[in-house]
Amino acid sequence: MARVLDQEEENLQAALAYAGRGIPVLPLHHPVVRPPVATGARAPVACSCGNPACRSIGKHPLAERGLEAATTDPGRLTWWWRRFPLANVGLGTGVAFDVLDVDSSQAANSLRWFTVAYVAKGRGPLARTGGDGWHFYLAPTGLGNLHPRGLGRMAWRGRGGYVVAPPSRHASGAVYTWVRDLDTPLPEAPLPLRDRLRPAAPLPRRARPGPAVSPYGQDVLERWLAEVASAPRGERNCTLYRAGLRLYSLVAGGLLDREQVEEGLMVAAEASRLALEEPAQTRKTLALAERVGSALPAGAPRQRGEPVLHAAGRASRAAGEDWAVSERHPAHPSFTPAGERERHG
Ligand SMILES: [Zn+2]
Repeated sequence: MARVLDQEEENLQAALAYAGRGIPVLPLHHPVVRPPVATGARAPVACSCGNPACRSIGKHPLAERGLEAATTDPGRLTWWWRRFPLANVGLGTGVAFDVLDVDSSQAANSLRWFTVAYVAKGRGPLARTGGDGWHFYLAPTGLGNLHPRGLGRMAWRGRGGYVVAPPSRHASGAVYTWVRDLDTPLPEAPLPLRDRLRPAAPLPRRARPGPAVSPYGQDVLERWLAEVASAPRGERNCTLYRAGLRLYSLVAGGLLDREQVEEGLMVAAEASRLALEEPAQTRKTLALAERVGSALPAGAPRQRGEPVLHAAGRASRAAGEDWAVSERHPAHPSFTPAGERERHG
């Protein structure tokens, strides 16, 4: 019982503390654990809204006015949480901050490079959601609620939005927690991310149609960047070279944008710390990969089966097996990934 009382008080105190920072706070529904139907069965989790089919357990506003009920008034907040002590704590976005909501439980490695390199680099406030995701708090952009282009399973919460904040409870039973709390200065939203939040329609910057929008190219790009970002020590330089080779050949084939590849590789190499620990080698590897890859234009596979990846290389082993670029760098036999001092294997 003491624990429950603690949590009741904790939610109210958190709500008041957020409001004290000028953040509009709103009460949200919360998960309710029902007694299991049979002994040994898992206790079903429901939403305090009472709708057995609720698809947003513990995440939607408790007040009828929804988001409009968000307030910084301590009196109002105390009133709400005295009535609904277990209410989850929602924070209005677009005022004191915007939030990049990353559903990392489902997001594959393809997104990790992005969050690690672009966002965590700013080391702003960061919350772990109870659902195994991440909330990156960033300086307000004036934008609304959006989905960054090309980044599945990420959502932008800006004006007119809200997020579930610590110490709220998730339907999983886990509690939202701060990795770095709001005392941490808010970083600006990184430019590449802001680019992806802008409407895609007119692109005066580049008259060339096509390259950056090839879904095949984007898919290969994200997968390779994820490989680079997560490559273990001893394989980082080699992985970077293979990625560069593949991606620059797609640039040469018109399926990817050169700037995007350059930037992505650099950021991914930073994420693996290779670019930080061995900057000279990283630049050398990238330059070589660009030179060799650019001389070997590649297109999208016709149907099944990739085309030959390198002019002098073997055919790829199977459809979609972009990872399987030959280990021996056939396109440039003299290359040895010796840049990394650590031992292979
Ligand atoms: Zn509900």
